[in-house]
Amino acid sequence: MSASPLRLHWPIWCVWLLLCLSPQAMAEIGEQAQPLGSHLSLLDTAEPISLEAAIKAREAGEFRPSQQAVPRFGIGTPPHWIYLPLHNPAKQPLKRTLQLGEAWIDQVDVYLLSDGHLLQQLRAGDGRRRLLQATPGMGYLLELQLPPGRSELYAQVYTADPLILPVQLLSDSALQQARTANNYSYGALYGFLLALLAYNLMLYAGLKDRNHLNYSIYLGAFILLNLSYTGHAGAWLWPDSLFLKRYANPFLMNAIAWLGLHFARHFLALNTHTPRLARAVMYGASFAILLQVLCASLGLHAQALWVAFASVLIYSLLMVLLGIVSLRRGQTAARYFLAATLFGMLGTALTDLSVWGLIPFTTLTYRAVDIGILLVATLLALALAYQMRQHQRARRQAETLARIDPLTGLLNRRAFLEQGNALWGQAIRHELPLTLIMLDLDHFKNINDQHGHDMGDNSLIATAQLLTQQCRTGDILARWGGEEFLLLLPQTTLQDALVLAERLRQAIAALALEDAHGKIALSASFGVIAREQQAQLEQLINAVDEHLYQAKQNGRNRVCGPPPDCA
Ligand code: GH3
Ligand code: MG
Ligand code: MG
Repeated sequence: MSASPLRLHWPIWCVWLLLCLSPQAMAEIGEQAQPLGSHLSLLDTAEPISLEAAIKAREAGEFRPSQQAVPRFGIGTPPHWIYLPLHNPAKQPLKRTLQLGEAWIDQVDVYLLSDGHLLQQLRAGDGRRRLLQATPGMGYLLELQLPPGRSELYAQVYTADPLILPVQLLSDSALQQARTANNYSYGALYGFLLALLAYNLMLYAGLKDRNHLNYSIYLGAFILLNLSYTGHAGAWLWPDSLFLKRYANPFLMNAIAWLGLHFARHFLALNTHTPRLARAVMYGASFAILLQVLCASLGLHAQALWVAFASVLIYSLLMVLLGIVSLRRGQTAARYFLAATLFGMLGTALTDLSVWGLIPFTTLTYRAVDIGILLVATLLALALAYQMRQHQRARRQAETLARIDPLTGLLNRRAFLEQGNALWGQAIRHELPLTLIMLDLDHFKNINDQHGHDMGDNSLIATAQLLTQQCRTGDILARWGGEEFLLLLPQTTLQDALVLAERLRQAIAALALEDAHGKIALSASFGVIAREQQAQLEQLINAVDEHLYQAKQNGRNRVCGPPPDCA
């Protein structure tokens, strides 16, 4: 491979010529702020080089035009030079603010030249002490005095972090606007996220549901990462820590991966459904953190970043996978979970595409990742709310089921006592009549023996249906035991209850149940009683049981009330 350097570089030569000739290639200094990526030329160097060397390299055509709205160079790349030709059409010098880069850039040296003379030299970055620091959310703001006519801007940038280099020139009014938009948008973003976090912490304090705590911690890490990579944390939380300025981003990325998976493990109940997968995922996430601590302690900054980006990528894919698996298993709350994960990924993808210049670079597309975080936080909060509603419904269902006899669908003993006692209290307070009927199927053991247990069950169901049909609303009907039923009748006299019991007795005896073994001779004995001196419902039940016993003693298939109402 011995192509001549000229042949290799001829496209660059052409573009350079075009750049020199074409007036559009020069950034015209106007009032509007816009990304200047398309006006930039770039040079990669293995080592930092001097301004003179960079000027020579440019004159030798070694700079290449930037293809992207926002130049982007990858992780752990060598130093880069950028070159921006400028034109100030006014007659006086113009004050402009160069907005450059992301807060995590280690160092940037900016030179403004006119006619080969160095007019200004500025230095900023977070990689060393006493450099100009980033303005939170806005990157580095460097004030320039642009001379009339042509001038040139050179800058050398180095960082181990992903080098993304938005470059804009802002007039004072545009800077003011950008600051206001920045302050409001971050205020709204953090306000919303912190409110969600605080609310979920309160829910955790009240409900003691671990999911709310996991969510809050996960969201907290998200907020901290955002604060960290936008430079808010560097300005407010750890202004003096070079170590945190260097390692907070990768560490928080890994922490989010771990906390996100931990949240998913509990929220999607992975321990129950796929315990091995859950364990493997958590071991993997913990291993990534260990690896990163190792990299940080050995000072391997770029490697720590690679670990972070790899684990965030794997984590995003895993979250989608876990969401799909849980959804296919029928966990409906996983819908919100999956949507949250996908929106998070979509936000990141849009920001990436805008930085690559594949979609228009606007504040909205560039900050799609922040909107993604808002959606993730909201949808996961909705997921928790949905799950809480599901739990409540399941609890209500369980409570209802705990009061229903599964075979006949009638109230069970517990429900009868609850509802009966309420009725009992009312009857006592308002001195209303209250009667109780107890019935027991006769020789039911024989029915089971002769026709089988299933037929016995069917007889119980048929009896329950018959009793339900004969009841008035307000009456309380329950299966008291095996083949024993209770019927509590509010505002009913003993006489009326005796009539009803007799009607029920006849109806049961007339039930025409039959199977292969022949007709089932179903009958029941009844005890009837009215509330008199008894202090409690239980006493009335004991008393009616005696009348039922009497009915059995007297030959079954009959109704017995207090004497003389016992045949
Ligand atoms: P008596 O006329 O004295 O009441 O005689 P009995 O045979 O009806 O009374 P006993 O209390 O001796 O027997 C009740 C039987 O009811 C025994 C039990 O197997 C049956 N039984 C209880 N619950 C059920 C049930 O849910 N399904 C069926 N098929 N049988 C049941
Ligand atoms: Mg019986
Ligand atoms: Mg019995």
